[in-house]
Amino acid sequence: MIPFINLKEEYRLIGKELNPKIHSILENGFFVLGEEVRNFEEEFSKYMGSKYAVSVNSGSDALFLAIKSLGIGIKDEIITVSHTYISSVDAIVRNGAKPVFVDIDPETYCIDTSRIEEKITENTKAILPVHLYGHPADMDPLQEVALKHDLFIIEDACQAHAAEYNGMKVGNLGNLGCFSFYPTKNLGAYGDGGMIVTDDAELSELLKQFRNYGQSKKYYHDFQGYNSRLDELQASVLRVKLKHLDDWNKKRRKIAEIYNAHLKDLDLILPVEKEGSKHVFHLYVIRCKNRDSLKEELLKKGIQTQIHYPIPIHKQKAYQNSIVELPVTEKVCNEILSLPMNPFLKEDEVIYICEMMEVALS
Ligand SMILES: *Cc1c(COP(=O)(O)O)cnc(C)c1O
Repeated sequence: MIPFINLKEEYRLIGKELNPKIHSILENGFFVLGEEVRNFEEEFSKYMGSKYAVSVNSGSDALFLAIKSLGIGIKDEIITVSHTYISSVDAIVRNGAKPVFVDIDPETYCIDTSRIEEKITENTKAILPVHLYGHPADMDPLQEVALKHDLFIIEDACQAHAAEYNGMKVGNLGNLGCFSFYPTKNLGAYGDGGMIVTDDAELSELLKQFRNYGQSKKYYHDFQGYNSRLDELQASVLRVKLKHLDDWNKKRRKIAEIYNAHLKDLDLILPVEKEGSKHVFHLYVIRCKNRDSLKEELLKKGIQTQIHYPIPIHKQKAYQNSIVELPVTEKVCNEILSLPMNPFLKEDEVIYICEMMEVALS
């Protein structure tokens, strides 16, 4: 069986490095908002090229608190996509704001920036692009629209750790950048975790208060906040893994290259990397007319695949009241298939997958 992801292999490789760190935290007996978290925030902001980084307990909370910190709430609208993971949109709704959906670019599967302006109303406060699958959204035209209409930009970079747009790491291309450390992400904890990066000192202080009950100093609460903290154990795991991120992303890109080379003559649409963009291949997503039968055939050959995502948010039961036409989104979700992708896939496994795809499609 070729697994879709392979966290056991990852632990086999880094366990030696990790175990003593985890052990020492257990022995020290300090578990929340300590030195590991502080150091990780510093290392992460330095790595990403942002001035500040505030850790929280998930990517979902990173998005939720980012929106909250900008004062966005009831009656406000945020422009985003429907072709994404549920929490990009849930974060908007949990703040009482309204998600306004824009269709996606058929090549990158990220927001179609040419369709943003027509959705702007007097209630629009922000644009929330998702750097989906590890490919950056087209930020130049997006920033132009945001500037023209005085809108905030909140980046959902939960699938795009160290992806680049014109030489800049994503997360730094708007007011706030949100990351997830869910175990399967390019940088993942052994549990939940998230981070918000920003260059705005005031926002970073506000976010630190929001994640900790609105507290300014112990037992002094300036406003109502939340319990959304990264813990010391996860921070120590992430500090170790951050050192491997460049190498692991390089491996993902190499695997994508092998896929591209062996699949290019099949009747498929392969992922693209736009000029000026650096894709970090959180997922390797192809499109195929007979997606469901291809998925089934591959499973028979021991190859696990997934679909990200089969039902767009505006078609989800929870959000069915949003009536909107998104033809590209609705077409793509029936054709996409995510092939196995993780830094520990071997070259001969990738070639085997490609061969089995050729058989299935012939
Ligand atoms: C994973 C993910 C999130 C949410 O992150 P969690 O840490 O699981 O809460 C948000 N947006 C996108 C695009 C994601 O892939």
